[in-house]
Amino acid sequence: MLLVFLGPPGAGKGTQAARLSTKYGIPQVSTGDMLREAVAAETEVGLRAKSIMDSGQLVDDDTLAELVRDRLAQADADGGAILDGYPRNTAQATTLDEILSDADSRRVDRVLFLEVAEDVLVDRLSKRRACPGCNANFHLRFNPPSDGVHCDRCGTELIQREDDREAVVRDRLGVYRDSTEPLVDFYSERGLLARIDGEGDIDEVWDRVDATVRQ
Ligand code: ADP
Ligand code: ADP
Ligand code: ZN
Repeated sequence: MLLVFLGPPGAGKGTQAARLSTKYGIPQVSTGDMLREAVAAETEVGLRAKSIMDSGQLVDDDTLAELVRDRLAQADADGGAILDGYPRNTAQATTLDEILSDADSRRVDRVLFLEVAEDVLVDRLSKRRACPGCNANFHLRFNPPSDGVHCDRCGTELIQREDDREAVVRDRLGVYRDSTEPLVDFYSERGLLARIDGEGDIDEVWDRVDATVRQ
């Protein structure tokens, strides 16, 4: 099962992808997490990506293609994967098809499009806290860590992402509209798109996501 989460920054892609991953035992492949790990490890990719990510722009397609190709070739992705944050433009979507058909003629099974109004997104992103240890996501109001400061899963101190500051959030929403939103039509034309109302609390959205995948 190869699922793709599509939606603006803050829509809940990471949150819902993690739940699907647990339920179906297939890996969540978050290109944002992979790039942040590369930045932290100061790899060649990380050094190249850091300033681009901090400004909310997209890292180049070739770098992403290589990351995703290598990740999907790992054994734990034999039974599929849940892509969270890739593809982010039509060129990447075309590349994804190539990567998948090169690998045992796999293909995208379903695209889960989380729809959330812009004011809700800003609210979610401004209070998001991320775990640099295990990539878990929290929200100070909607999904707070028990002690307010540390990750409930691994105990690492939570951070606010550099790109979750308000000025960068606005730029990211612009990048989403210009580059990523065209994928709604791209996948809709291919009959793969499932529109899911992403508003409401995390459990409500999960019920919709789960019901869509079980269809
Ligand atoms: P969001 O919470 O907005 O969905 P991500 O964690 O997915 O953010 O991505 C953070 C940043 O990493 C992006 O703003 C971009 O710079 C980079 N990035 C992640 N995925 C991609 C991709 N598929 N193509 C280009 N850049 C990406
Ligand atoms: P994305 O991966 O699409 O950028 P996240 O899953 O990281 O989005 O969610 C963004 C922020 O909003 C996080 O702080 C998360 O805890 C919170 N969040 C996710 N889903 C919901 C929801 N349905 N209601 C309220 N807050 C949510
Ligand atoms: Zn953690």
